[in-house]
Amino acid sequence: MSYDYDVLVIGAGSAGLSAALTLGRCLRRVLLADGGPPRNECSPGVHGFLTRDGIRPAELLRIGQEQLQPYDTVEVQGLKIETLARQGKGFRATGHGTADDALVEVTARRVLLATGVSDVLPALPGFRELWGRGVLHCPYCHGWEVRDQPLAVYGQGSTVTGLALLVSRWSRDVIVVTDGPGHLTPNARRRLRREKISIREEAVVRLIGSPARDLRCIEFANGDLLERAALFLHAPQHQRSPLAADLGARLTSKGAVWVDSGLRTSIPGLYAAGDTTPGTQQALLAAADGNRAAIIINENLTREECPR
Ligand SMILES: Cc1cc2nc3c(=O)[nH]c(=O)nc-3n(C[C@H](O)[C@H](O)[C@H](O)COP(=O)(O)OP(=O)(O)OC[C@H]3O[C@@H](n4cnc5c(N)ncnc54)[C@H](O)[C@@H]3O)c2cc1C
Repeated sequence: MSYDYDVLVIGAGSAGLSAALTLGRCLRRVLLADGGPPRNECSPGVHGFLTRDGIRPAELLRIGQEQLQPYDTVEVQGLKIETLARQGKGFRATGHGTADDALVEVTARRVLLATGVSDVLPALPGFRELWGRGVLHCPYCHGWEVRDQPLAVYGQGSTVTGLALLVSRWSRDVIVVTDGPGHLTPNARRRLRREKISIREEAVVRLIGSPARDLRCIEFANGDLLERAALFLHAPQHQRSPLAADLGARLTSKGAVWVDSGLRTSIPGLYAAGDTTPGTQQALLAAADGNRAAIIINENLTREECPR
């Protein structure tokens, strides 16, 4: 059976671009389906990415696409993949062009899912508007930018406790905002108190920001305003694409695409890399994952081409 491509890489963020680069260097015929912006699109800068600290997310990906140009076996298409089905040992995928909405159907011997996740923010005014600037998810990505400033950490239970203790390494002025009952154990309250982190359990009405999308203050239902420079939260996530679930691939209890140590999903020939899989979520780690998946896929294809 012949296929259009050796590998279809779905998603052109850090993981997908890195995989396409390595596969191109292996002379593999690759289609990189670029379905739209990455998860961190509204962030002013990608931090902690070796040699690229603070680069705008779109610029990082633009350089990634530019550096694919010498590899003429790699094709990048603005393409959102909508269906994925087994075909022989490989796959058939369909989708629509992001520019012209044209229907596209392709086949590939292997597929790498690098489709990322979305963050589900509280449905209160200000969270979405300030996301990535005044509302932040990760102190490793943004803590340095707001160090020593008055900060809030939003959420309940053990999640908010752990995040508040972590954020308190960047600033000694941290307040936990639980937006209603905090479900904090006496031990959690004691640990927060020991770090001089106070707790506000009133309901939140909205976040008020500046035109530059910095946080100015948190408005509570009782009318109080709490001035803060930024608010951190661990938002629930969902997969950007249902393709793995639609194919019947195993998911973890948290909804990530399960992979083994070789980034293989439970579906033979289907691999996954980056935020879509379990583990620490960082752009550099996603790029490293994409590189590793590419090597594993190339070796798997080589074994198929050179049987014992
Ligand atoms: C606000 C914010 C700020 C962040 N800041 C930092 C930071 O400073 N430093 C850092 O290291 N990390 C940061 N991160 C985390 C970082 O964004 C992720 O770890 C990284 O983007 C993961 O890369 P990825 O390639 O796995 O996924 P993504 O970058 O999200 O890329 C996935 C791509 O797949 C595409 N896609 C999805 N479905 C389909 C489909 N069906 N067909 C085709 N394409 C599809 C999406 O459009 C997207 O382009 C931040 C995250 C957020 C939310």
